[in-house]
Amino acid sequence: MLAALTAAGCAPGRTVVPVRMQPAAALAAPPAALDLSSHEATVRSVAGVIVRDLGLPLPDTVTVYVYSSRSIFEQGLVDDGHVSRIRAAELSDFAAGVGKRRQLLLLHHEANVASAEWVRLVAHELAHVSQIELAEGEGRAEQWLAEGMAEWVAFRVLERLRLDTVVRRRLVAVEAVRDHEPVMARRLDLATLGTPRGFTVRHLREGSQPTYQLAYLLADYLIARDGLDGVVGYFRSFATRGDRRGNFAAAFGQSLEDFEQEALAHLAKFAH
Ligand SMILES: [Zn+2]
Repeated sequence: MLAALTAAGCAPGRTVVPVRMQPAAALAAPPAALDLSSHEATVRSVAGVIVRDLGLPLPDTVTVYVYSSRSIFEQGLVDDGHVSRIRAAELSDFAAGVGKRRQLLLLHHEANVASAEWVRLVAHELAHVSQIELAEGEGRAEQWLAEGMAEWVAFRVLERLRLDTVVRRRLVAVEAVRDHEPVMARRLDLATLGTPRGFTVRHLREGSQPTYQLAYLLADYLIARDGLDGVVGYFRSFATRGDRRGNFAAAFGQSLEDFEQEALAHLAKFAH
């Protein structure tokens, strides 16, 4: 009986839904695609934009886990996502979702069930699933760029599904980073923001909102400058070579330090 319930994905507080992503033509075509009638429908609406509009790859099947409380989410990160207990405790404190290899682990509770926020979360985490497919592994690329691109994808999805606009989201991001200490001090320290652990430490210390919005504006700048293809090529380069600094320089034609200086000059335009 217990086995049957687990197979059907009906454990209390934990729902498991395998979502087929292939063939891409079968995914809902935006923009008339928003269907929030079930978790599967939501994921397929978002995946339709990611695959058909943005041209990003997703695996044939993504298994979606939805948890109804923080404690069930924390346990699911360990049992389903194979995250260490320590990292699961840390993540479940602040995160509402985690994108893993061919898996989405999502916390569905009062704070994020409003449709736009839920769609943003699903899109952000699906973008991580896509990055992991491109890089053929987790946590390989610069973390600020992984997070920033995930937000960039999420905002494009929200706009395409007519839940928000990129222009409004960009303005919100600019407001959030204007008085952000690393921006004012003109020292982003991208090297620290580049690792999963360093990114977590920084956003816990300096504020989650401005740190993610800063990552978004950096990715937004890079994508405007070199195209989404340039960033996709960067993630893809990790499938053959694990050299973070070398892959950044090869993909973007400059060192991380030089990019940081260029980005600071860009961000200075938003100063009060
Ligand atoms: Zn993320």
